[in-house]
Parts: sequence; structure tokens; C-alpha cells
Amino acid sequence: MTGARLAATVVLLALCAGTAGAGLPTISHEGRSYVELSRVAESLKSRLEATAESTQARLRTATQVVTFTRNWARILVDGAPMLLDAPVVVRKGVWLVPETFMAQVVPKLTVAATTPPAPVLAQVPTPSSAPAATLPAATLPAATLEDLRSRSYPSFTRLVVETSLPVTHRVEPAGARDLRIRLLGLTGAPQLEAINDGLVQEARLERAGADALLRVTFEGAAGELRASTLADPPRLVLDFSRPSPPATRARQGATPLRTIVLDAGHGGHDPGAVGPGGLMEKELVLEVTKRVARMLTERLGVKVLLSRDGDHFVTLRDRTSFANRERADLFVSIHANAHRVVASEGVEVYFLSSEATDNAARQVAAAENSVVQFEKAANGGAAGRSDIVKTILWELAQSEFQSESSRLAETVLDSMTESLRIPNRGVKQAGFYVLGGAAMPAILIEIGFVTNPREERRLKDSRYRDEIARAIVSGLADYKRAWDLRARPAAARTP
Ligand SMILES: [Zn+2]
Repeated sequence: MTGARLAATVVLLALCAGTAGAGLPTISHEGRSYVELSRVAESLKSRLEATAESTQARLRTATQVVTFTRNWARILVDGAPMLLDAPVVVRKGVWLVPETFMAQVVPKLTVAATTPPAPVLAQVPTPSSAPAATLPAATLPAATLEDLRSRSYPSFTRLVVETSLPVTHRVEPAGARDLRIRLLGLTGAPQLEAINDGLVQEARLERAGADALLRVTFEGAAGELRASTLADPPRLVLDFSRPSPPATRARQGATPLRTIVLDAGHGGHDPGAVGPGGLMEKELVLEVTKRVARMLTERLGVKVLLSRDGDHFVTLRDRTSFANRERADLFVSIHANAHRVVASEGVEVYFLSSEATDNAARQVAAAENSVVQFEKAANGGAAGRSDIVKTILWELAQSEFQSESSRLAETVLDSMTESLRIPNRGVKQAGFYVLGGAAMPAILIEIGFVTNPREERRLKDSRYRDEIARAIVSGLADYKRAWDLRARPAAARTP
């Protein structure tokens, strides 16, 4: 296994050496190798537009533009999304990109000037009748399936095939409502992922001689496939786009805010945080969420949907899939904190980032994410891997809504600190898995610390719960007002 990983690394290095940016000094960040984006730009003789404060950076070659977003692995090459295998980071004002950018993206940029490197590990994108035995994958030790997972978005469905070693894939001819993808030399037990999201019905992984065959069945016409590969762990990411994507992008800013999904944390066999007096987070947040729902419907006249309305378990993924299916405008997750320091108190509002604001924020996210490990353990897969959440986060699409989510978080926190007369702890960011799948602005509110005995007593009080609910609602009302103002000019134009 280690030897094979080494072999894969050597191939990447070989690809790297063949391109313009070989030999750039690397910088280690969170255990990964990075290179300075400015040096990459220099080596490509291209222009870099980036500042220490900017959210985005742009690299301009003679003919192409690459857009980077701080803390996100998703980049745009001439508007087309690509995933890096780690997020772009800004450290001490310096923009850093994962070293693998050199092998993964740079060859695509310099393709006009030099011949592309030999596709040693590259995909075979077109249907081919070449026997599998002639392909390099067959000479590697057998790769095994580690995990097959899916995620639904308004405009596409993503399937991720995580394997022990990189695998070559080949799209094979199939019917009008099917796609067949051969994964060369992949072994492992057959798997079925039922999706039923309006586009993809199911994905079935079967044995086919020495290979595995992934059959994707669509509910209607087959979606267009865009495939990309990621390393560490090796993953094949398959995005199927809807034949006619709904106009969700155009919707924001064009119509008034209509639908809010409220997500009460935990439930069922997952109690969440438990206070010294026995107050359970799952009960507290459901009760507060129901109060918020009532007030929102009465005061704002918006449609409010709950991801759970009783004491039952809902996976983190299903919570946002529900919001995406309902085409919600906002996703608001409501939780209560636990902290080893019993004196901790107050409200915190988070939005998603793969980089945490600080250690405390990272711990809060880790606690809220821990339920994923149980979900994964229930169906085998990548159970017990401590990096599973981080891996999954980098595949998600919340990056598009990051600035709007941060604006929503600020508006709600301002309102809460003002009406509850508590110190403003500031908006924080961290890697909350539950927010990752939301295709809309999304925040997570920690309404208080159940582990603080004084705060636990207060959180049991019906009047205080009402105050909290009212504060959240007035924050959402402020945000809706700003949203609807932006929407007005567009709405006025429609007859
Ligand atoms: Zn929680």
C-alpha cells in the first residue's frame, strides 16, 4: 500500500517536472505541501491579481483566467469549476496553492505552449475498445473501493468514488437513461446508492471481470457527465448536470425571500450536548426551532419548513438535501454548545469554511460533526477515519454562497446580541459538515452553553426561549428586508 502510494507520487512529480513551474519551493501547511501563488504566476509569466485581504485571487495567462477563493478547494478555470485536493489558503497575507496544482492544473494552462505530459495516470475520457490489460492501472496492485457517496444540488448530482489507489475510468456506451463507467482493476463488494433526487435514480457498483462497473440510472434523460480526480485519498468525482438547470442562480436578488428551512440539531439516538441538570440539546433546540417557525410565519409571511419536527434521527446530509429539494432561500441550523470550561456563555453564529476561525471554533465544529462518524459506521464505508469530514467538506459547493452566508451570520448575530443584551462574540467560521451541502446561504446558531449550570437554568425557562426565538426572527427579518430591497428593482421590471 505504501509502496503503491509512493509510485503514484513519483508519477505526479514526473508530470510536474515536465511543466513550467517545476522546482518551486514548497511550504508545509496543516501537513500538506503548498507553493506560493505569486511564484506560480511568475513561472507561467502570467499576471496575478491578489491582495492579502481579498476573498478571491485571479491568475491571468495570455488566454485564460484562473479564479481562486480563499479557504476553498474549488477553483474556476475560464469559468469551469475544478477541485484541488486541498483548499487554497492565505497565510500571513501570502496566497498559497496546494503543490498538486502544478500537476493538476498547470499543464492545462500551458497546453498551447508545450506538449501535454504523457497521460500516465490520466483518465481515458472517450469510450474506447482497448482491452483493460494494456492500461497502466492493470500493472498496479488492485485498488479497492473505500466509499461510494452522493450529494444532490439544484443543478447537478455528485457521486464520489473513493478508492485505496488511483483508478482509471472509462465511460462505456449505455442506454438513454443510463451511464456506465468502467473502473479498471477496482475490487470490492457490490454497492447500491439510492439517490432519487429527480435527476439520478440510483448508482450501482458491480463486479465486471477484473474491473468494477458503475451503472448510473437516471429518472429521466441522462445528465451530462463531468469527471475529475482528486488525490489523498484517491477519489473519482462524477458530476451529472441536469439537462435544464433550474434558474436558482438568477433567483437570488431577483425575487423576494420566500422559503426558509429551519434545522433543529440532533434528535433520536443522538441527544447532542447534555447539561449537568439533564437538559438535552436535541429537546431544547427543537422547542426553540418551533417557536422561531411560528413567529417567522406570522411576522414575515414566508414559507417555513423544518428538517425535523419530532424526536427522530436525521443524517446531516439529508438535512441540506431536503433544503435543496425544497429550493429554500436560506438554511438555518439551530444548536446549543457544550464546553469543557463551564463558565462559557453566550451566543455564537457560524458559517461554513474549511478553515476555522480559531481552536475553539474548530472544536465546536468537530463536536457537531461527530455524528457523521456514526452515520458512516452504520453502513461501513470510510468509518473511523478522523479526516473523513475534512475530505467531504472539500467536495461541497457552499463556496459559492460564502459571502452571503457571512452576511446572514452577521445580521443574525447583531440582532441577537442587541436584543439579548449579551456580549458579541463575533461571527465565526468553521467546517460544519451540515452546512456543506446547502446550495443557498446557510448558518449555524449556537444559542447557548447547556454545560454552564447558570445558562442551562436560563435555557430551561420558557420566557428566555421566547426571547431567543424573537431575537433570531428579528435578525432574519433584517436580512429579508435587505434581500427584498435588492430584489425590488428586478421585480419592478416584471409586468
Ligand atoms: Zn449541536
